[in-house]
Amino acid sequence: MSEREDALADLLAHGRALASVAAVGVPWPPGAAGRSAGEPGEAAGLAAIREEMGDCRRCRLAAGRKTIVFGQGNPRAELMFVGEGPGADEDEQGLAFVGRAGQLLTDIIEKGMKLQRSEVFIANVIKCRPPQNRNPEPDEILSCQPFLEAQIRAIRPRVLVGLGKFGAQWLLKTAEPISRLRGRLGDYEGIAVMPTYHPAYLLRNPAGKKDVWEDMKAVLRFLGRPIPGEPG
Ligand code: URA
Repeated sequence: MSEREDALADLLAHGRALASVAAVGVPWPPGAAGRSAGEPGEAAGLAAIREEMGDCRRCRLAAGRKTIVFGQGNPRAELMFVGEGPGADEDEQGLAFVGRAGQLLTDIIEKGMKLQRSEVFIANVIKCRPPQNRNPEPDEILSCQPFLEAQIRAIRPRVLVGLGKFGAQWLLKTAEPISRLRGRLGDYEGIAVMPTYHPAYLLRNPAGKKDVWEDMKAVLRFLGRPIPGEPG
């Protein structure tokens, strides 16, 4: 049995709690979302990663968080967004990008790119809300790193969008500022990376939206998807 099949068998045997399964975007019952029984796929991988996190206490952020925000979406997404970390709304609801910045991200995906938010996967560099929404510290990022790495490995999207400094720098393993990184395709373990501005930055600086739109058009082009507003 492959590792993934093992993980699925384990899932079936122990009957995981529906709530935690739904929160990681796992189709339930297994086999939903058109997957055949012999092809367990990425969903089981994500559930196993979430299981491994448990009630994570690996860094100091555990003390102040309400919920671990694992990330959610399509476990077979071609497109995955990586943000910084949960804010108050995300901490409250246990879901990534559900506050004001999240609404703008939804608009970018749905109104701009003409994709469904449910067809992409959305996660963050850190899974727990820092106090007063301060920036994540390097050791906190390192503590969370194996989980984001594993998520990307399980989903294996065709494109990763790094949102803002933390998402982009983590993916590209660089300290270059986002203003210099954005708009240029990079690489994360053989997966294309598009760094772009964070939606929270766009809420404060709406002039940056046109740059983000250029970046998202480049993503659509890379994926061979239609570019809204441009002749096919
Ligand atoms: N900002 C992020 O980077 N991630 C979220 O989930 C929400 C806001």
